[in-house]
Amino acid sequence: AAELEDLDRRHLIHPHQRAAQHERHVMVRGEGCHVWDAHGTRYLDMTGAANWLAQVGHGRPELAEAAARQTSELEYFTSFDVYSNDKSILLAARIADLAPEGLDRVFLTNGGSEGVDTAIKAARLFHSRRGEPDRTWIISRRFGYHGVTYGAGSASGFDHLQFGAGPFLPNFEKVTPPLPYHREMYGGEDPTDFLLRELEETLARIGPDKVAAMIGEPVMGGAGVVPPPDDYWPRVRELLGRHGILLIADEVVTAFGRTGAWFDSARRGMAPDMIVMAKGLTSGYAPLGAVLMRTDIGDGITEDQGFAHGFTYFGHAASCAIALANLDLIEKEGLVDRARQVGEWLRDGLASAAELPHVGEIRVVGAMVGIELVVSRDTREPLFAGAGAATAELRDVHQVITRDYGNTIVLAPPLVLDRDDAARATRAITEVLARLDG
Ligand code: PMP
Repeated sequence: AAELEDLDRRHLIHPHQRAAQHERHVMVRGEGCHVWDAHGTRYLDMTGAANWLAQVGHGRPELAEAAARQTSELEYFTSFDVYSNDKSILLAARIADLAPEGLDRVFLTNGGSEGVDTAIKAARLFHSRRGEPDRTWIISRRFGYHGVTYGAGSASGFDHLQFGAGPFLPNFEKVTPPLPYHREMYGGEDPTDFLLRELEETLARIGPDKVAAMIGEPVMGGAGVVPPPDDYWPRVRELLGRHGILLIADEVVTAFGRTGAWFDSARRGMAPDMIVMAKGLTSGYAPLGAVLMRTDIGDGITEDQGFAHGFTYFGHAASCAIALANLDLIEKEGLVDRARQVGEWLRDGLASAAELPHVGEIRVVGAMVGIELVVSRDTREPLFAGAGAATAELRDVHQVITRDYGNTIVLAPPLVLDRDDAARATRAITEVLARLDG
């Protein structure tokens, strides 16, 4: 273990590491909701492999077998033009089958950022093929997370994703997201009224006929698990529709059961023209993403008029076989419904934590929880040091893995979490938060 930790320090880049974090936790094995580090210490994974995935849990033999079978049959064959492979076809059909009405074309990618880039290109291409080549602007939201490539990173609303590495892409504009807990942002106005007025003003400033698309997470993840007011997406959708602007739902975190639905956008009145997905598509067992599109948008992606796009490993046969087996498991084990049950266990278990002086708000959306820490409940001023300290203590003292995003502790456990483990995690969290001094 010491040797691995040493090699890790010398060779492997950990891009989000902060100077204060020199320790290493080298994970070597997983089973269900637990993972083991190289010292043999067992942890309860309340974060989906510290990255919002692991829907079906760790170490599932069904997925290992799907990978082995496919790799020995046919590991890979591209679907750039006339060639295809059976698993990517079956996966595309399966995604279309699960999806909301009207979305039936699938562009496979290796992950979320590539999916976001693909959706942005598809939106601009759609407009330019219809004689509107100047419709290039992309609207996204501050604190929205969409990935780190130059396209997705231009849409992401966090300065630290761009710091020192600019210039990023032109013609990207950010608007305010719905953060209902921080109602002071809206100056006493109804949050949706405020946000719609701001969006309308932004469109007017750019020129609505210059805007290609807006992208947003149905429920913001990296911003701290923030569901919007019920009328937010329907009103955004209506406004964009009036101006011929496409709406892209970034469901990289939310899809495949995480929020208690196959696709979260469908039930929030978002009615997107494209859905970007990744993570839960394979539960993390293979790198894979997809963009599900309206027929007329997807059919525009051809080389006929000179445009070309596609990645070597998109539709990798083994990744697609794993995704198919993963979706089978999610379906067979009822994990979409179970996510809601998991959320209820977590909400119940955190009931007394919700009353603590430094806990501002606990937000539960399916099996996704944001615990926002504040200096005081009266001012709602963020308590930034708290979440990192609590996360470290939960891991090192209680062997419970959570994640901190700014002043929010995030949970996104495997959907197979059972009641006892939910209780163990929430007890530990409550105990640690009770001792926080701000
Ligand atoms: N969109 C969202 C909402 C995400 O959470 C992420 C990754 N955390 C991405 C896009 C980017 O995906 P990837 O890291 O696979 O490129």
